[in-house]
Amino acid sequence: MVVKINENYLKLKSSYLFVEVARREAEFVEANPDADIIKMGIGDVTKPLVPAVVDAFKSAVDEMADAETFMGYGPEQGYGFLAEAIIENDYKKYGIELDTSEVFISDGAKCDTGNIQEIFGLDNKIAVTDPVYTVYVDTNVMAGRTGEMGDDGMYEGLTYLKCNADNDFVPELPSEPVDIIYLCYPNNPTGTTLTKDQLKVFVDYAKENKVIILFDAAYEAFIHEDNVPHSIYEIEGAREVAIEFKSFSKTAGFTGTRCAYTVVPKELMAYDGEGNVVEVNPLWNRRQTTKFNGVSYPVQKAAEATYSEDGKAQIKEVLDYYMENAKVIRESLTDMGLEVYGGISSPYIWVKTPNDMDSWDFFDILLNEANVIGTPGSGFGPSGEGYLRLTAFNTLENTKEAMERISKLEF
Ligand code: PLP
Repeated sequence: MVVKINENYLKLKSSYLFVEVARREAEFVEANPDADIIKMGIGDVTKPLVPAVVDAFKSAVDEMADAETFMGYGPEQGYGFLAEAIIENDYKKYGIELDTSEVFISDGAKCDTGNIQEIFGLDNKIAVTDPVYTVYVDTNVMAGRTGEMGDDGMYEGLTYLKCNADNDFVPELPSEPVDIIYLCYPNNPTGTTLTKDQLKVFVDYAKENKVIILFDAAYEAFIHEDNVPHSIYEIEGAREVAIEFKSFSKTAGFTGTRCAYTVVPKELMAYDGEGNVVEVNPLWNRRQTTKFNGVSYPVQKAAEATYSEDGKAQIKEVLDYYMENAKVIRESLTDMGLEVYGGISSPYIWVKTPNDMDSWDFFDILLNEANVIGTPGSGFGPSGEGYLRLTAFNTLENTKEAMERISKLEF
């Protein structure tokens, strides 16, 4: 007998984007040990947790140190106090009513967007936007819903919805039948948004074709445009067709603290093998209660504090700081004659490479000549070729310095 692996893992493209970025950076640093590199590549926050969050975090840790207030296992779905704060603050103000049993608190939108596919059958057809947050693709490859990756950089069996400047980064509806569509808005990596009307097209399509939309709103807190929905449930009928993912990571600097949530409405239905209707919410509940034991109490108290008056004001200051960086990047690159997208309702700026240069060539020029690190667009999917992603997660000084250096380059 030999142990057999899940062969689907062998279909995964071996070189992970950020590994290759790190390899090229390390090679450059070895050759140029004194270079002052400015990293604008990986999408991780740079500002610390705000004081209101830290205070709540610390006092919850103190509760854990006292036998009277100590907390053991909590509910797998998260504590009611946090679910209620989420509903009150993230939904009610947009006219959306949710029940606490529809909110599942977790330790990250990465795990939730990655794990959600396992409650759906392997024969479902999946559509993703291209470029894409690669977790949606790789988790479906691992599960066995795809064939091999072709020379075109696309996995056989997946439907790619192209998003580039030609269609204003608004994906077209799938041209072939699909069952599940992943959408991420504001988008990673392009930083672009969909208006209510544009998202409604997808919701209406989903209702008409019995499709489920997996809507990743991890960057919702960055929205600065009036006609951009903060939740897919602002669109009429979306409760019947969509699951929504949100995270405290980028909103409140929780990338290292870990807290997020997923909304699975009671009205959302799928079908069993005989075509009988099945509620999806109890399936996700079953999955989470079986495989997940909840987020730690202090982290949930810290997350709750993001909704306090002080917490909200302090977080707004941090988000405004990042968005000032985004503005500096957008305006500087535009002044240099480069085409830029995103950065208005997103910390990501998606730059068209000059002279149709290849993404990795542009990456190398920025690294070697400006000592600035971005992320090559091609790493996010074939339609990302010819673009590069920069992030606003940095200091204003570094951001300005990076723009100054790039402005001196000749393309
Ligand atoms: N979804 C998108 C689109 C992201 O870009 C990220 C992180 O970069 C995540 C989810 C992961 O969020 P979390 O830190 O909550 O796991």
